[in-house]
Amino acid sequence: ALEVSGVSKSFRRGRETLPVLVDISLRVENGEFVSIVGPSGGGKSTLFHIVGGLLAADRGTVRVGGQDAAGRRGLIGYMPQQPALLPWRTIEDNVVLAREIAGEPRLGSSALAREWLAKAGLDGFASAYPHTLSGGMQQRVAFLRALLSDHELLLLDEPFSALDAILRVDMHRWLLDIWEENRRSILFITHNVEEALLLSSTVYVFTGRPATVLERVEVPFARPRLDEVL
Ligand code: ATP
Ligand code: MG
Repeated sequence: ALEVSGVSKSFRRGRETLPVLVDISLRVENGEFVSIVGPSGGGKSTLFHIVGGLLAADRGTVRVGGQDAAGRRGLIGYMPQQPALLPWRTIEDNVVLAREIAGEPRLGSSALAREWLAKAGLDGFASAYPHTLSGGMQQRVAFLRALLSDHELLLLDEPFSALDAILRVDMHRWLLDIWEENRRSILFITHNVEEALLLSSTVYVFTGRPATVLERVEVPFARPRLDEVL
C-alpha cells in the first residue's frame, strides 16, 4: 500500500513563499486503482514528485509497502507528465530502460517492447529516435516504459493528455487489462473527472491553492461500466 500522510510543500518564489500542498493524506491499497483529480497548477505533479522520491516534502510522510524515502524508489514505476525520453536512445531502448536497470534479460524485454509498440500504434518505430516522434507518440512510449517495468506501484501523471479520443480509449482498455492481470497498485493523475471515474475505484479530489483534499469518492468497480459505455 501507498500511504501519504500530512504532506505539505511550499516553494520559494523570490522573497515569497508559495504554499502548494497543505496537509495532504491519501492511501492506495495493494492492487487498487486510485485517481487524483484537480485543477491545473493545483499541485498534483508536485505530490507525484514527492511520492516518487524526486522531491522532499516540508512536512509529512510517504510510505510504500511500509518503506520510507530511501527504500521506496525501487518499488515505484513512474511516468512523469513530460515524457522525458532519453534522446540518444532509440524508442525500443527507451521502452526497455526500466527492465534493463532491473537487470532483466535483454532478449525477452526486446520482444515484449516490440509487441507493445505495435499494440500502441507505433509499429516500425522501434529503432527511431525520440525527436522524430510527435508529442502523443512520445507520450505512449513513456507509458510503455512505465508499464513494462515491474514495480508494485505505478504512478501515472496525466499519461494520456496528448492523445486523441480514439487512442485514449485504446490506452484505457489496455491499462485496465494490465491492471486486472497483475493487480499492481496504480495512482493516476488527471484533470479529467470523467477519466478518473471511468478507470478508478477511488478518486481524490484536490482543490484550492494551496491544494487540500476536498473529497474522497468511492466509485463502483470500473471495468463493467467501461465495457457498457465504450
Ligand atoms: P497541471 O495539471 O497543469 O500539470 P499540477 O496540478 O500538476 O498542474 P504542479 O506542477 O504540481 O501542478 O504545480 C503546482 C504549483 O507549484 C504551480 O504554481 C507551480 O508553479 C509550482 N511549482 C511546481 N514545481 C515547482 C518548483 N520546482 N519550483 C517552484 N515552483 C514550483
Ligand atoms: Mg502536473
